[in-house]
Amino acid sequence: MNRRVFLTSLSSAPALSAVSTAEPPQSDRLLIADVLIIGGGTAGTIAAIQAGRLGARTILVEANSQLGGTTTTGGVDFPGLFHAWGKQVIAGIGWELVTSAVELNSDRLPDFTKPTGKQHWKHQVRLCGALYAALAEEACVKAGVQRRCYEFPTAVEQTADGWKVRLAGKGTNVEVVAKQLVDCTGNASVVGMIGLPRQREKTTQPGTLIYRLAGYDIGMLDMNALQAKVTAAVKADALKLTDINGSIAGFLRSGGENAMHVPGADSSTSETHTATNIRGRQSLLRVLRFLKQEPEFAALHIERLQPEVGVRETFRITGETIVTVKDYVRGRHFEDAVAYSFYPIDLHVEHGVKPEHLKEDVVPTIPLGALIPKGSKNLMVAGRCLSSDRLANSALRVQASSMAMGQAAGATATLAAGAATTPLNVPLADIRRSLAKHGAIVPKT
Ligand SMILES: Cc1cc2nc3c(=O)[nH]c(=O)nc-3n(C[C@H](O)[C@H](O)[C@H](O)COP(=O)(O)OP(=O)(O)OC[C@H]3O[C@@H](n4cnc5c(N)ncnc54)[C@H](O)[C@@H]3O)c2cc1C
Repeated sequence: MNRRVFLTSLSSAPALSAVSTAEPPQSDRLLIADVLIIGGGTAGTIAAIQAGRLGARTILVEANSQLGGTTTTGGVDFPGLFHAWGKQVIAGIGWELVTSAVELNSDRLPDFTKPTGKQHWKHQVRLCGALYAALAEEACVKAGVQRRCYEFPTAVEQTADGWKVRLAGKGTNVEVVAKQLVDCTGNASVVGMIGLPRQREKTTQPGTLIYRLAGYDIGMLDMNALQAKVTAAVKADALKLTDINGSIAGFLRSGGENAMHVPGADSSTSETHTATNIRGRQSLLRVLRFLKQEPEFAALHIERLQPEVGVRETFRITGETIVTVKDYVRGRHFEDAVAYSFYPIDLHVEHGVKPEHLKEDVVPTIPLGALIPKGSKNLMVAGRCLSSDRLANSALRVQASSMAMGQAAGATATLAAGAATTPLNVPLADIRRSLAKHGAIVPKT
């Protein structure tokens, strides 16, 4: 494969005039790619780096300003879980970026040798999301990945040997001819545009606007009195219970971080995503105004505030394989396993979450078939929209697993492009060899 000969401009650039009152120029160009990845989030970034490192002409399209998606822009900057039962089970490109971010910012990795019991979050890695995004971008540059931010697909057409995808953005309007397409939008948006089946629940998990409050002394607060005021404020419609996830004591102990819920959060269209973000910010304003009435909160201030609500659940694809909760909790070892996954079953409802922990030594696997839409050709997904039932998805969706899926999808799509075949026909041994060569931990056959 001819590495990095990826951009072909068929039309010459328009002549520049000194003064223009017209609309910004539309660059109507044709781009050529082996692997086109839509969505530069948790999974898509890793998929792109892997494809680039394997020599594919790779284009990564991201609607937002930075890479990393929910991990960075969503503020879930505590990825996990890379370790299970005292052993590392997920590594590779995601782990490389996570540990680089930790080291460069003088942060600390958790002690993975210490069992966490039911406090699984103790093995999540706290990092600086914006730094992670910068490192991910640098890794993309080094791998020769063409990054296209502020862009999204407007039309997707299947061809005999790949795809024609129309992308629009600020002053851009380009067509990409690609051999392989990987949907890492988190919402299976591209799969939806193609018209392949997607599914979602009537009521999805709530989202969360990640922020942290400070400027109060938790020891000085009368929690019973404050909870009574919460009840009155809820009655008066000045506050919603979901704003604080029910308990003001629990909410304030964590500075409100990752503690509120936005019911019905939905990022699958620009309209629903806008409405979700508005609801998240309105919730924060209600909380601030409520607390500011109390003298103990005179110095209340925001320590961190993300620009958008983190969305937990929208669409999942129907894949060649559907991972069920039974498969997950029993640690089913799929024949076509390409990665491990490790997390409790973690379904959030309106007023909280009760994780169900895996039995000792259980380490579930992710089959390649769950990343391939059923009956599709030259198409894959990675990240939270993989093919799984709802409960299995509540564990599979987490960041370390999404990163591992991204790497597997990037490798498989590249091998498929190189062999002019479809992902389902790529020999598993080749995928596993490729992944292992790039630092991933591949389930033993
Ligand atoms: C509040 C919250 C708490 C969580 N807690 C944890 C936790 O403690 N530990 C953990 O590991 N996981 C946690 N998760 C889960 C985990 O963060 C996500 O499931 C995971 O990051 C999803 O990765 P993804 O790649 O599928 O999607 P994302 O990371 O969301 O990436 C999708 C990307 O696609 C882009 N995009 C979408 N549509 C388009 C389009 N049409 N064109 C171009 N780009 C597009 C988006 O801008 C985004 O960058 C949490 C999630 C949330 C919301």
